[in-house]
Amino acid sequence: MSHDAAARARDQVREEIQALAPYAVHPAAGLIKLDAMENPYGWPTELTQPWLEAIARAELNRYPDPRARALEPVLRAALGIPDAAAMLLGNGSDELIQIIIMALARPGAVVLAPEPTFVMYRLIARWLGVAFVGVPLRGDDFGLDRPAMLAAIAQHRPAAVFLAHPNNPTGNLFDREDVVAVLDAAPGVVVIDEAYAPFASDSLLDQAGAVANLLVMRTLSKAGLAGLRLGVLAGPSAWIEQFDKVRLPYNIGSLTQITAEVALRHPELWQHQADSIRAERGRLEAGLAALAGIRVYPSDANFLLFRAPPGRAPTLYQGLQAAGILIKLLDGAHPALQDCLRVTVGRPEENARFLEALARGLESAGGK
Ligand SMILES: *Cc1c(COP(=O)(O)O)cnc(C)c1O
Repeated sequence: MSHDAAARARDQVREEIQALAPYAVHPAAGLIKLDAMENPYGWPTELTQPWLEAIARAELNRYPDPRARALEPVLRAALGIPDAAAMLLGNGSDELIQIIIMALARPGAVVLAPEPTFVMYRLIARWLGVAFVGVPLRGDDFGLDRPAMLAAIAQHRPAAVFLAHPNNPTGNLFDREDVVAVLDAAPGVVVIDEAYAPFASDSLLDQAGAVANLLVMRTLSKAGLAGLRLGVLAGPSAWIEQFDKVRLPYNIGSLTQITAEVALRHPELWQHQADSIRAERGRLEAGLAALAGIRVYPSDANFLLFRAPPGRAPTLYQGLQAAGILIKLLDGAHPALQDCLRVTVGRPEENARFLEALARGLESAGGK
C-alpha cells in the first residue's frame, strides 16, 4: 500500500517540488539556542496579567476578525507606519512573501534578489513556479553590487525585487543610495524586508505609501514574538488591495491578534529588550574580533556573521554543539559564505559561554 502511495505521489507531485529537501530546523533541546535570531528575553512580566485577562475573553468559537480591526491601529502606532500606507498582515512575514509572489506569478514573471540572502525568497518562488534570479553581493563587504543589480533589473524586468535590509545572513544594511537606485530602476515592486528593524540604524518605513513601487515588510519575530507569527506589509493601497485578494480570509488567529494588541500597547518594553540586545551585540562582536583567526562582519541585526580559518568551520560548529551551543553553519550554503558561521546575540551569559567554547575550539588540536 505505501509503495502504491509513493508511486502515485511520484506521478502527481511537480518535479521541482520532489527535488526539494524539506526545510530543516535543527533540534535544539538542551542546547543554548543561538541559531535562529530569536530574542533571548521572554514575555515581559508586567504584561502577563493583562494578557491572561485578554485571552480569557477571546471568543474562540468564532472566526477571528478577518481584518484585525482592533490590532491594526495599535500596530500602526507601535511601528510608526505612515498614514499614507495601507497595511496587510501575514502569518509571519514568510506568508507575506508567499502572498506577494502568488499575486505576481504570471507566466514569465521573475523574482530577483541579491545573494546570499534570506532563502525564502528563492524557495517560495520555486514553490510557485516563478523564475528566481540571484545577483551576487559584493565579495568584500556584502554590499549591493549596484551595476550588477541594475543590469539584472534591465535584463529580467522583475515583477518583484526583495532586499533584506539588514540582510540575513550577512547582517549589514545596504547603502541607502544603492537601495534608491534599485527602487528607481525596478519596473515592479521592491520589497524592503526589515525583519531586523528593532536593531538597525536605517529604515525606509517612513517612505511607505509615498513611493509607487516601495513595500516595506516588518515582523514581530525577531523583536521577541517569533512564536506568535505576525508580519506586516506597508505600502500603497493599490498594491495592498490586490495582494489582499490572495490572503486566506482568517490568516491571523484570534489569539495572535489579541496577544499582539496587548504586547504592542507597550512598545517601550520591547524597545528596551532590543536596546539590551544591541548593546550585547557590541560586546559579542568585540569578543569575536579578539579571537585569532576569526573575522567578524559588521551587523545592524541581532546576529553576527563571522569567518573561521580555512576549513575549520564544520569542526568548530560541531565542537560548539558538543559544548551545548547551537549556532548556524553557513559554510556550504553559498560560495560567498565559505568558512562562515552565524551566531544570534543571546543573553550575556550565553554569549560568554559561546565565546569560551569557540576559543577552546580554535586552540584545540582538532583543526589545523
Ligand atoms: C527571520 C526572517 C524573516 C522571517 O520572518 P517571520 O515573520 O518569522 O516569517 C523574514 N525576513 C528575513 C530577512 C528574516 O531573516
